[in-house]
Amino acid sequence: MNSSDLLGLWPHQSYAVAGIETAWASGARSVCYQLPTGGGKTRVFRTIVDNHAAGRKVVYLMAHTRALISQLSGELEAAGIRHGLIAAGYPYISHRVQICSIQTLVRRVNGIPDPDLVIIDEVHHVKAKSYLNVIKRWPAAKILGVTATPRRPDGKPLNDVIDKLITGPSMRFLIDEGYLSDYVYFAPDDVDMSGTHMRGGDYVTSEAVAKVDRRVIIGSAIDHYREHADHVPAIASCASIEHAEHVATEFRDAGYTAVAVHSKNDQAHIKRAIRGLQDGTNNVLCQVNLLGEGVDMPHAQALIGLRPTNSEVIYLQQAGRVLRSAVGKGDAIFLDHVGNWQRHGLPDDERAWSLAGRLERVTGISKYKRCPGCVRPVPVATRVCPHCGHQWTETAEAQSRVPEQVEGVLVNIKGQSQRQDLVLRIARQARTLKQAIAIAKSMGYKHTEAYVAWTRYLKHRA
Ligand SMILES: [Zn+2]
Repeated sequence: MNSSDLLGLWPHQSYAVAGIETAWASGARSVCYQLPTGGGKTRVFRTIVDNHAAGRKVVYLMAHTRALISQLSGELEAAGIRHGLIAAGYPYISHRVQICSIQTLVRRVNGIPDPDLVIIDEVHHVKAKSYLNVIKRWPAAKILGVTATPRRPDGKPLNDVIDKLITGPSMRFLIDEGYLSDYVYFAPDDVDMSGTHMRGGDYVTSEAVAKVDRRVIIGSAIDHYREHADHVPAIASCASIEHAEHVATEFRDAGYTAVAVHSKNDQAHIKRAIRGLQDGTNNVLCQVNLLGEGVDMPHAQALIGLRPTNSEVIYLQQAGRVLRSAVGKGDAIFLDHVGNWQRHGLPDDERAWSLAGRLERVTGISKYKRCPGCVRPVPVATRVCPHCGHQWTETAEAQSRVPEQVEGVLVNIKGQSQRQDLVLRIARQARTLKQAIAIAKSMGYKHTEAYVAWTRYLKHRA
């Protein structure tokens, strides 16, 4: 890890603190600081809290989940910053620094001193009405918002509540400097999301679930986990509670330990599942919407993507989970079975952040294509794959077939699980009958089996 300065800050964090203070000094009231997940944004605002507390200022730190509140409290305590909690179940204790649940703060707003500084963690939630009310109530207070993704999931702008955006170093910089793990990205499958309806900027859950809660996709996830990340601590990102339970069951049937974790579980179950990932008693944690913010699990090394999302914010949050560096941890491994890379690019792509809301994306044009040899995304202009040596020719760029195109035929061969493996493998990898036969032979099948799979199940001409 890199050297830190006298205050215990890494260089980019010291730079951030200076930039934020300068913005306030030059007249901005509300400042947003952006830093990729794992870049240590908490250390930045901890320093700012400390500076203000030393100057006898009143500081409110706002968070919107219990997990974030207890994480922040732990951080301040570790830094020796005395503070109170304005949250349900806690009596008010007079301290200059308070960590506030937004819901409780709204109710107690009359009985507490005016803050000089309000810090809002995960500030992309700031357009929620209760946040706006709090900000309006104390017009003299400075505001600092922090987030990895200064963009609301629905794409609405932040510039009516934030005066100035300060962006930190890029994810690639943090990887190269050793603050984050590097990664490999595999994209074995796609899911066609065309025709799916949107709500709040993302796919309607029931429709997304219908696309991905399929044995054929889960089976592929297990195959690729075994091939690329066998027994590596993994998070499987799922689209619904039922989907997560299905994924966990299938992984268990395949011989792994896997636990589904979601909002219907109690805290003890969730903690046990996370601890299991760390001590090796749990291989795969199948989660739904739970690990977005405030839950730290640096040992998770693989992300099994089974939830298609249209939200770049959610995509980057999930990627950030497995990019945190930890002692003894290897490169992170992404197994994207739902084509999120085609919508959002790769995690460390340079991104332009703006307070003005969603930047219009050029649709239908991806910077990447999938290498048929190793299923890794590579830049579209690539002629020879840097990972496996596959060579593209002018005509043979045929895409591998996606699982749902063959799902219908798999119904016919249900129960013959080995043949199903063969058909799937051919569907994914073969572009000619000759290749299909080679695959069949490599798996111990006769060439006639390949012929049947190719012509009858996959409806190709021989
Ligand atoms: Zn390749």
